[in-house]
Amino acid sequence: MEKKEFKAESKRLLDLMINSIYTNKEIFLRELISNASDAIDKLYFISLTDEKVGLSRSDFAINIEILKDEGILKISDNGIGMTKDELENNLGTIAKSGSLNFKENNELDENVDIIGQFGVGFYSAFMVADSVTVKSRSYNADEAYMWKSQGADGYTIEPCDKESVGTEIILEIKEDTEEGEYSKFLEQFFIQDIVKKYSDYIRYPIKMDKVISRQKEDSDELEKHIENVTLNSMIPIWRKNKAEVSDKEYNDFYRDKFYDYSEPLAHIHMKSEGAAMFNAVLYIPSKAPYDFYSKQYEKGLKLFSSGVMIMDKCADLLPDYFSFVKGVVDSEDLSLNISREILQQDRQLKIIARGIERAVKNELKKMLENDREKYEEFFKAFGLQLKYGIYQSFGQNADAVKDLLMFDSSLEGKKVTLAEYVSRMKEDQKYIYYATGANAAQIENLPQTEMLREKGFEILYFTDDVDEFAVKMMNTYSEKEFRSVSSGDIDTSDEESAEIKTMNEMNAQMLDFVKDSLGGNVAKVCVSQRLKTHPVCLTTDGDLSLEMEKVLNSMPNVSEKVKAQRVLEINASHPVFAAMAKLYENDKEKLKKYATLLYNQALLIEGMPIEDPTAFSELICELMV
Ligand code: ADP
Repeated sequence: MEKKEFKAESKRLLDLMINSIYTNKEIFLRELISNASDAIDKLYFISLTDEKVGLSRSDFAINIEILKDEGILKISDNGIGMTKDELENNLGTIAKSGSLNFKENNELDENVDIIGQFGVGFYSAFMVADSVTVKSRSYNADEAYMWKSQGADGYTIEPCDKESVGTEIILEIKEDTEEGEYSKFLEQFFIQDIVKKYSDYIRYPIKMDKVISRQKEDSDELEKHIENVTLNSMIPIWRKNKAEVSDKEYNDFYRDKFYDYSEPLAHIHMKSEGAAMFNAVLYIPSKAPYDFYSKQYEKGLKLFSSGVMIMDKCADLLPDYFSFVKGVVDSEDLSLNISREILQQDRQLKIIARGIERAVKNELKKMLENDREKYEEFFKAFGLQLKYGIYQSFGQNADAVKDLLMFDSSLEGKKVTLAEYVSRMKEDQKYIYYATGANAAQIENLPQTEMLREKGFEILYFTDDVDEFAVKMMNTYSEKEFRSVSSGDIDTSDEESAEIKTMNEMNAQMLDFVKDSLGGNVAKVCVSQRLKTHPVCLTTDGDLSLEMEKVLNSMPNVSEKVKAQRVLEINASHPVFAAMAKLYENDKEKLKKYATLLYNQALLIEGMPIEDPTAFSELICELMV
């Protein structure tokens, strides 16, 4: 019997498996079971037209046998089997070297990842076994052959006895060492668990003899007997007909697979037969996981290929703004042994991702239209993520989510959508107005909103840091621009604007004096068109608002602080204004003090810190006595 060398590429992969530091070695079983299932598929297909096969659908099975004392784990199937040449070609060479994509200097790290995400087929058996024997009899041959290898130094092939068509894989499990416990692969319960975890939806039964202990009748003694049990459930929920699955079943599946004890808000069951064939069951959770808004959170859907799990969290299937969605996707179009890099560029995967995005969006829209209360619950948990999605993508994704956004508003004590806002805009209203602040109560007291409120214009309340950034990215909704109540031009009406313009011109010198006395704190001082009763407010010119300034400067690692262009607006119909005009004529020193007071008041109203509280307090006292 002659010892044969592995091909160079195979040898490298094999070395990698044998010396694998990868902790998730259990996936070898998934790989072997999946090969067995493919082999059965092939013979079953032949059996449909060829009576000689002599097996019917229910005869096909995969068997697992544990010989604990001998340290052996066997996996056998009654699939198509391999001829001598096939043993040689299929197991002596790796066919998929291309997809594995070895690079010169990436050795272990990246390869570990490949093992984790996709497995590497048959050779993964060497992660757990010192010696691997494959006995196989092909449907197309009369004799059986045995392939055997102890690892990288080569393999042998010789004839052997095997009655029936199919393949038997015999693994001599490694001894336990410090870095790895292998004996668990000889434990019934452990094997059962990993079959359930990775291969539950394989279409053929995976059977194992199990020792079951039962209490004897009329006695305390335990009676042991052996039962041949099927470990997998075979039909995944996503392959079933929607009509056959109850809400409870959907929810149980969710709790089971995604470890969430609360019921999901909604589920979506998709069966797509268009450009990409896939089935999916998706869930919208009711609460954000504790780490959802942190860097630790990983988005993604479980990805299956014909019932075999190939990835636990496939991130490419979900856009960031829907990162809360949980679920499973199964597509026969995806190959089991595909590398992560190739998967990312896979056309099928992209089509699937688009389908999923559309389905989630439609489901949420439906919820918004038909069950407002539920939708508000959803928005409370994940609304922030939708807004981050718009911001992070520089507004490119706005179309997908803009109709799903909600904000508090001045008109109703509840959240409104942008569509609702626009539908009731006043005839002479040009912009979608918003005001920022810590909460609705604080915003309601902002003097900047006075005039707009009196005109009956609705104002959206932006209470999350990201709100203003998100709408800046969107720019418009339904062709209406967003406008902050504190921004330079709020365009109330032309008539008023003209009046204010005259007032500004008439008082230009006084206003300039006030500005200069504030020494660079403000870019402009002017007569306000938005104040009704309050004497002052702070607004901004340009793109950067005070709120944005606050948020940006509070971010970690800001090297340079940003500063909004502040404008101090004064209400010309307030008695303070008349007093100031008078002081400009006869007591400029006092006017300077007034200017400081007004500026600090405006800061306080805005919820911003004042620079020198002690000086401010002394100034008040000075003017009081
Ligand atoms: P892959 O399954 O991705 O092709 P593997 O290394 O797991 O890669 O297997 C290589 C080939 O060996 C398979 O394509 C198949 O032709 C053959 N093979 C493996 N296991 C079996 C089996 N149990 N029965 C028949 N053929 C098998």
